[in-house]
Amino acid sequence: MDAGGAQAHRRAAVLAIGDELLAGAHADLNSPRISRELATVGWPVGRVVVVGDNEDQIVQALEALCRDHDVVLVTGGLGPTLDDVTRSAVARAARSPLLEHAAAAQQISAWFAARGREMPGSNLRQALFPKGAEVLPNALGTAPGFTMETTGETAGARLFVLPGPPREMAGMLLGEVLPRLAQCAGDGSGQAAARRDFFMVGLSESAFADAAGDWMERSARPRMGVTAKTSILSVRLTLEPGAGDHGLLEERAVAFQERFERWIFSEQTPDLARVVGEHLLAENTSLALAESCTGGLVAGALTGVPGISRVFREGLVTYSNRSKCERLGVDRELIERHGAVSPEVAAAMAEGCARSSGADIALAVTGIAGPGGGTPDKPVGLIWYGLHRAGETSTAQRRFPARGRQQVREFATQTALALIWRALRA
Ligand code: ATP
Ligand code: MG
Repeated sequence: MDAGGAQAHRRAAVLAIGDELLAGAHADLNSPRISRELATVGWPVGRVVVVGDNEDQIVQALEALCRDHDVVLVTGGLGPTLDDVTRSAVARAARSPLLEHAAAAQQISAWFAARGREMPGSNLRQALFPKGAEVLPNALGTAPGFTMETTGETAGARLFVLPGPPREMAGMLLGEVLPRLAQCAGDGSGQAAARRDFFMVGLSESAFADAAGDWMERSARPRMGVTAKTSILSVRLTLEPGAGDHGLLEERAVAFQERFERWIFSEQTPDLARVVGEHLLAENTSLALAESCTGGLVAGALTGVPGISRVFREGLVTYSNRSKCERLGVDRELIERHGAVSPEVAAAMAEGCARSSGADIALAVTGIAGPGGGTPDKPVGLIWYGLHRAGETSTAQRRFPARGRQQVREFATQTALALIWRALRA
């Protein structure tokens, strides 16, 4: 795997192993993640193969992939049970015997000791590695991975063998594999593609496309990719190595920031709750919530942020009309006159929440999640928000597509976070 090499474009392959993947019991999440990450360090994935937990088939697939690719990433089947046969299959394909690795054996028993658990004997199988393999630590689980170069007929292919659980796989991919591959980009450039990310809220994908114009053309340099998920847009600018100097990316990034400043909430993470939480913490602004249709989802998202207890006062799930009256002091007559999903009630909920909590910002959300309960003038997907801050109350309305109860609730939750984010920026 030397950095030079006669071929201009060398390729990587992925082998995902598991009966559950073939049976359709689990979607293969590892291969797409690997493809995305490898592309960023100049190693485009040229082939993805899925096989079951069958040693002969794994050996066959590995041999074929190693013949045509310089790097092969293998995931799955490193567990302690007998149906996990990846390590012995790799040893066979690489013509290398399995040996016990003392340090790995110790790490595995330490993993159990740290959790006050007895180590089952079968876990020692996870300390077996093909001779010549370098062990890759797994900070998130018991099964270490390994990397090695193949010998025999398939000599010279670099293997990375990682555990199947996606979280563990991703941890090792980012921590161990990418740094190694980044040192010798497979596209011959000796450098990774440069990229910039932007995460936005409050802009639809089509409105974004209109505003982005020819920046989005396929031939544009840098290239621009956009994905949308529950009202969050993730935009990536990528400049392939050799496509121009770094200045080009920087220039476009600055112009992008200017054009989309109103909507960009982060250049690091698509996790809006985290950004809002960190904003609240940084400004020492306290928050309280009164949730109806989201049933605590906004509070759930925010309490996922470490340290948030310093600023998050409370979240009430005032689901029934009675609760809105008794807990938040909303006037029963107001609900009877306007309905629970109305600007008047959303405002009264926010004011009641501010009064009882004393928080700097109080946000209320009330809406129709569906699938039933909609009317012509109040359809499923209609949400009203009330936000109280510094003696003033504002309301906002959103109408989400009626794509099912869970979707509406998720949209409503992201938008609640977006409204808090906007209030903090104002
Ligand atoms: P473990 O010690 O957990 O057994 P392992 O390396 O043996 O680790 P597997 O037994 O293959 O991994 O898979 C464990 C679980 O990880 C599977 O039940 C499945 O839920 C998940 N998994 C494995 N491979 C994939 C994949 N490619 N995509 C998504 N999930 C996967
Ligand atoms: Mg398995």
